[in-house]
Amino acid sequence: MARDKEMMDRFATVRERMVQEQLLYRGITDPGTLKAMAEVPRHVFVDDAMQAIAYGDHPLPIAADQTISQPYIVAAMTQALQLQGDEKVLEIGTGSGYQAAILSRLCAKVYTVERINTLLAGARRIFDQLHYYNILSRLDDGTMGWAEHAPYDAIIVTAGGPQIPDSLLGQLADPGRLVIPVGGHDVQELLLLTKEAGEIHTRRLESVRFVSLIGEQGWNG
Ligand code: SAH
Repeated sequence: MARDKEMMDRFATVRERMVQEQLLYRGITDPGTLKAMAEVPRHVFVDDAMQAIAYGDHPLPIAADQTISQPYIVAAMTQALQLQGDEKVLEIGTGSGYQAAILSRLCAKVYTVERINTLLAGARRIFDQLHYYNILSRLDDGTMGWAEHAPYDAIIVTAGGPQIPDSLLGQLADPGRLVIPVGGHDVQELLLLTKEAGEIHTRRLESVRFVSLIGEQGWNG
């Protein structure tokens, strides 16, 4: 137990350095996002063998040939949602659960959908272990959203598809914000869509590389 605490503290220092050198340095300014990134133990979401490099400036492989995004990308997508604390947020692509965990510190409830069962099971175990009880998850094709709990104040898609799934636009509240990588299999543009008074505005944030969004309104759809 004492050793566990010592390990957590050691990672807290590395995490603080990640916030300073990767996030603040690159212009992440939202206090909530910075606080969540400084608190959530990223190393818990990766294999034991990779814990030592969990806070590096790069994506990390997880099971089933998938990846957790680089810390800066997680922070940039989170910041783009401008969460105030009382929102319902939908995430497509639970993966390791790390992005959902960050969001759960900044809003009322996170609904996250994953299509690979082993990943979902692993993420659920970690949410319980960390007592992050405001995350609900579901095994399904997330390109269809999660209609039961719609509308969502914010939607975040953490896999790249060829287009913006209509279902997700339909399940976005007004006002609402959606971040999604759209493009080819290798490179995509990270888009921020803002719905307001029935109108959708689209802004391009940056070029990114995400794993593929596979489903009815994604690749192979
Ligand atoms: N947000 C994750 C990133 C995981 S990588 C994290 O923080 O770790 C993207 C994930 O999207 C993969 O786990 C992949 O299986 C999942 N995915 C791809 N297409 C999907 C779909 N249609 N519905 C749900 N999940 C999907």
